[in-house]
Amino acid sequence: MTKFRIVHDRPNCIACGACAAVSKNWTLETEDGLADPVRDVIDESELAENQEAAEVCPVFIISVNKIED
Ligand code: SF4
Repeated sequence: MTKFRIVHDRPNCIACGACAAVSKNWTLETEDGLADPVRDVIDESELAENQEAAEVCPVFIISVNKIED
């Protein structure tokens, strides 16, 4: 099954919460308020919601990259 890797430029996160609002794979940490992916390797069943998280991020720090077989 095709897998995808989430890449997140965490130091540039502005803690807006947009990613977590559209994807259950994103959560805001209680300690510093910044976002983290729950899983950084996902399969196709989670692809759409993580791509949406990347699209709604106002500072464009999320990318979803196919892992080559
Ligand atoms: S949408 Fe982007 S800037 Fe906002 S919390 Fe998520 S990763 Fe951080």
